[in-house]
Amino acid sequence: MEDLQLSNGFELPILGYGVYQIDDLDECKRGVASALDDGYRLIDTAACYGNERAVGDALSEAAIPRGEVSISSKVWIQQKGYEGTIQSFEKTLMNLQTDYLDLYLIHMPYGDYQGSWRAMEDLYEQGRVRAIGVCNFLPDRLIDLILSSRIAPMVNQIELHPFTQQIALRKVMAEQGVAPMAWAPLAEGRRGIFDNPVLKRIGQRYGKTPAQVVLRWLTQQGICAIPKSVHEERIRENHNIADFSLDDDDMHDISAMDTGVPLILDVDTPEEATRLHGISHTQ
Ligand code: NDP
Repeated sequence: MEDLQLSNGFELPILGYGVYQIDDLDECKRGVASALDDGYRLIDTAACYGNERAVGDALSEAAIPRGEVSISSKVWIQQKGYEGTIQSFEKTLMNLQTDYLDLYLIHMPYGDYQGSWRAMEDLYEQGRVRAIGVCNFLPDRLIDLILSSRIAPMVNQIELHPFTQQIALRKVMAEQGVAPMAWAPLAEGRRGIFDNPVLKRIGQRYGKTPAQVVLRWLTQQGICAIPKSVHEERIRENHNIADFSLDDDDMHDISAMDTGVPLILDVDTPEEATRLHGISHTQ
């Protein structure tokens, strides 16, 4: 499958492995090791997941040349602001046991994200990150950031799966050259996605599972997807999507599953803003 080319020309694998909610560090290390064995070449972590060190250990032990693996991580709200972001970035590099990141992201559209962005611009210009971006930015904040910055975000990592397709946001992102990265591409298993009749029917035609159909549907649209699993066979299954293509009818049928609203994270509410501001972590 083709890589995803970002607005600055940097290329990211279109399919990666995510490690959110893998709190057991041995399990995280095993998961990353399995993913690398299966051929994943993009690992997505975050300061607030508390598992950057395990990701770094797995990467070091895999002994794959650093330039062949892309690593993305994120700065959390409490670390925002210019100085805090630089400090968090240094810890992230130390944990990941590397001297640069391929992609560095602002995790939430809250707090002093303008200050964080200035730091990200500097890190990018110093060559310490290959690309910079944001997560969970809705159109108003995305445009605000673009209009008040030297460098526009290259990526917006957003909740994106068949039930939440983010059509309006993706249109704005496309106009601004901001590439979509799908978090929870499998909807975290919610709403019975793995037993969904439409996905099952499509999958049967190709000898593929609903998870593989969804990941193919995303990547076939040029959307980078980063599914998480702690099970070796599922990690392999999720990567095994390069040998089939969905036709127009399949794509249309999956598009029709959109509910038009977030299933997992509604960032645009006072409840979520309050809840997320309350989450702290040690790096
Ligand atoms: P996913 O949509 O990747 O779903 C993960 C769930 O699906 C787990 O319960 C997993 O179970 C299960 N699963 C995975 N593959 C299969 C399969 N083939 N068959 C059956 N079940 C399967 O959810 P995530 O929230 O983890 O999102 C993916 C990544 O996106 C995260 O790990 C993280 O890197 C990133 N993310 C970013 C956010 C942001 O704000 N920027 C927010 C949330 C996530 P099991 O592990 O038991 O196999």
